Amino acid sequence: MNFYVMTLFPEMIEQGMHTSITGRAIAKGLLSLKTVNIRDYSVTGNGRIDDYPYGGGAGMVMQAEPIWRAYEDVKKQIQADPAVSESPRVIYLTPQGRVFHQEMAQELAAEENLIFLCGHYEGVDERVIEAIVTDQVSIGDYVLTGGELPAMVMMDAISRMVPGVLSNAESGQSESFSDHLLEYPQYSRPEVWRDRPVPPVLLSGHHGNVDRWRREQSLLRTMQNRPELLKDAKLGKKDIAFLESLSD
Ligand code: SAM
Repeated sequence: MNFYVMTLFPEMIEQGMHTSITGRAIAKGLLSLKTVNIRDYSVTGNGRIDDYPYGGGAGMVMQAEPIWRAYEDVKKQIQADPAVSESPRVIYLTPQGRVFHQEMAQELAAEENLIFLCGHYEGVDERVIEAIVTDQVSIGDYVLTGGELPAMVMMDAISRMVPGVLSNAESGQSESFSDHLLEYPQYSRPEVWRDRPVPPVLLSGHHGNVDRWRREQSLLRTMQNRPELLKDAKLGKKDIAFLESLSD
């Protein structure tokens, strides 16, 4: 999985992504990260890449040409590999896009190359979005100052789906959203912490009972916190009976 990020703040992406699990995955060669500073493709020669919006209004708009040039450069690098025939997907981070979720992370993890375009200021000249962007993605219904944090959120979630990135492959499968359910609560040592004991079933050594308890906790949490997820969850007879018992 190769990530390419077109941004005005490459240091922000580099610092974030070279930390912790993603940093280790990059060091091991499971992921690669290349940041491209859009400012290096300024057409004015002085690093300027924004201009006033036509029609007036507040703020500045990132111009089309520097982004186009940065994209052409990245595409050339990717397509220098003779094994790559298709044009890579280009994701523009925008509050106007489809809202990111776990299934999208899973789907994108199957790509070999992904290009992210981070906007800033009032956003990006629409014409370059039309020309190069394949996916417009939002990380939620709020407005941030730039696309760098959203790009990192996406890369982090996608990375976890790449084989070998997580040390225990299972932990990516039983987590929240993996089956349209939230994960069960987790406990670690000590057995009693400030008068709060660990649920006894977790100490029983009975795997069947532990699995059932965890499943029920997942169902309970999902029902309490995100009931709308349940309509897409695969539920067995026992699950349905448990959920029905909650509303009794
Ligand atoms: N004027 C734009 C609008 O109303 O849609 C918002 C621009 S925002 C201040 C600057 C940049 O931050 C955007 O171009 C985008 O790249 C990024 N951004 C802000 N909020 C985001 C979100 N929720 N999800 C993804 N990207 C976001």
